[in-house]
Amino acid sequence: MSASSRLTSTLYRRAAATATPPSLTATSTTRVQTPQLARGIRGISSTTPSRLRPTTLSRSTYPLQRTAATLPTLPSTRLYFSTSAEEDSFDPASIDRESDEVDVCIIGGGPAGLSAAIRLKQLANAAGNDDFRVLLLEKAGEIGAHILSGAVIQPTAIDELIPDWLSEDNENRFTGATPAGKDSMSFLTKKWAIPCPTPPQMHNDGNYIVSLNEFTKWLGERAEEVGVEVYPGFAASEVLYKADGSVKGVATNDLGIGRNGKPKDSFERGMEFHARVTLFGEGCHGSLTKQVIKKFDLRSESQPQTYGLGIKEVWEVKPEKFEKGKIVHSMGYPLPMDTYGGAWMYHFGDNLVSVGQVVALDYNNPWLSPYGEFQKLKQHPLYRSVLEGGKCISYGARALVEGGFQSIPKVAFPGGALIGDTAGFVNVPKVKGTHNAMKSGMLAAEAAWNALQVPDNNSIFLYDYEDALRKSSIWKELKEVRNMRPSFHSPLGIYGGILYSGLEAFVLKGRVPWTLKHKTQDHAATKDAKDCSKIEYPKPDGEITFDILTSVSRTGTNHEEDQPVHLQVKDWEKHTRETWPRWKGLENRFCPAGVYEYVEDEGKEEGVRFQINAQNCIHCKTCDIKAPRQDINWQVPQGGEGPKYYMT
Ligand SMILES: Cc1cc2nc3c(=O)[nH]c(=O)nc-3n(C[C@H](O)[C@H](O)[C@H](O)COP(=O)(O)OP(=O)(O)OC[C@H]3O[C@@H](n4cnc5c(N)ncnc54)[C@H](O)[C@@H]3O)c2cc1C
Ligand code: SF4
Repeated sequence: MSASSRLTSTLYRRAAATATPPSLTATSTTRVQTPQLARGIRGISSTTPSRLRPTTLSRSTYPLQRTAATLPTLPSTRLYFSTSAEEDSFDPASIDRESDEVDVCIIGGGPAGLSAAIRLKQLANAAGNDDFRVLLLEKAGEIGAHILSGAVIQPTAIDELIPDWLSEDNENRFTGATPAGKDSMSFLTKKWAIPCPTPPQMHNDGNYIVSLNEFTKWLGERAEEVGVEVYPGFAASEVLYKADGSVKGVATNDLGIGRNGKPKDSFERGMEFHARVTLFGEGCHGSLTKQVIKKFDLRSESQPQTYGLGIKEVWEVKPEKFEKGKIVHSMGYPLPMDTYGGAWMYHFGDNLVSVGQVVALDYNNPWLSPYGEFQKLKQHPLYRSVLEGGKCISYGARALVEGGFQSIPKVAFPGGALIGDTAGFVNVPKVKGTHNAMKSGMLAAEAAWNALQVPDNNSIFLYDYEDALRKSSIWKELKEVRNMRPSFHSPLGIYGGILYSGLEAFVLKGRVPWTLKHKTQDHAATKDAKDCSKIEYPKPDGEITFDILTSVSRTGTNHEEDQPVHLQVKDWEKHTRETWPRWKGLENRFCPAGVYEYVEDEGKEEGVRFQINAQNCIHCKTCDIKAPRQDINWQVPQGGEGPKYYMT
């Protein structure tokens, strides 16, 4: 058996692994450089039954297991865990990882990563280079399962990437697009909705309402069609570097490690993926992107990123309340006047309504709960009148980037680049980021393809991507609206922001010599609880509003319990000592999935014990952004875990 086919069969079996693992075997590094690997693994798609998918996630069938039967026969193998003494001293890192060598490795199967992958293979196929390997790793068990968005999309990038994406002649066309219809913008008071003029950038003529998670799933199938090696269920957990400091690729995390940090019978070492170019498309606040930004000091010339938290539900509403294509946006109630945010309701598909709210994470009252605010929003007549009598079928939440033009970091570094939301291309006043995420992936792909045509082994620096970005529509549109979001920091709060943004939108259009700064980093904006008024949220009615655990049950989220907590807090006691007295449990209120709790405990100095229910996490990344002491580090859990979103 050749090394390549050994690895192929290992990976393929990894997707369909058997249930009972016998004792573990250590392997030495297996380096594989072959295009064939793809053929064995490409079968792991949304239509293939796979143990990697959250539907199969349960304690009896998960984690993924590599058994003796699935292990390749490799040199220098030996058994572990024969005695408890050996078990105690066993260091998983002492086992070398298998590795695979590809041309381009892409982290994240969102719109950005998939567009980059498709563009690369389109270029390679057009050049007759079938052996050009593009490999994409996605932490969700199925492509699209971790994607949550509004979403009204501007079709410019998809029109360019797959021009016949809606054509009746294309049997693989995307069938989930609802043409945008009537637009409206309102300012809400508790009882009223005051109509406002819709700013030009919010007009949606020619746009489409979609479920972005469905769209992404479809894009994943198109990627497989052109020959991208798509690996859902693989969470990249470590950036690998060459001796010269450039990025060499990534590694996926070990599976089958217990909560105590010790390997279990199901232990399986992670894998390394080496590439001449690694593109990070992890979406907002990527866990590896965070490290790369620090390592290469990519923010040396930009402002810190700022964020919002978007919480969303999908409802099936009564036919008489459904107005296909209708787009509703609002500002104001229920958010306090000093808190930036907005809400939406989009009518799409057959009697489906996407309803959601974004709360900027630079809010300063630690008593505020974005989840509670969203429940209040749904009780406003503008929204309640449509939802009444309907059924909530899906729930989810995700942070989004709000910093805009002034927060774009350097996007290229030796060996790789940042694409999409992980770099930060959302146009906040336009409420759109998908077209920019896709376009940035395509620009990086074109730069990578050109760079890889030069036959040398030196580390690659994608200068051309940086240049192309500056000349692109992304740069132009973000520059034009750069002052709108920071204008909400004026002493006039939301009113000042609305007035200034109106002036920019209708008159100035960004043609001013100044660039306003973001006031502060989100985590630093939170005031002490004693200095803010407590906010009481009404009890859920079970019809329009729900308790958080009912909502979480609609996300399909699942994590193996017996694994290291992926929400890493180095010292829980210290965290409690430093956070509870000043902010009185704000983690419990900012988390949209009820992961954090302070449980009364008289035995503790603070009277409470900090608890993390990590299995509920829906990967929104808010805790990593908003924790006031910046001591919660969100890391990928085992691949394939997390939410299994539906129609989000
Ligand atoms: C609430 C909300 C509403 C929005 N509304 C709109 C809208 O109406 N219109 C619009 O155009 N845009 C909207 N956006 C923005 C839009 O969703 C994003 O711009 C777009 O999804 C960005 O695409 P991306 O590929 O960069 O990131 P994402 O869509 O976030 O995809 C990133 C992918 O990478 C995966 N990943 C992350 N880390 C790893 C890792 N380490 N290993 C493996 N996989 C990993 C994730 O699981 C995910 O699948 C909205 C966003 C939010 C949150
Ligand atoms: S634990 Fe963190 S990432 Fe997970 S749902 Fe809560 S806030 Fe989001």
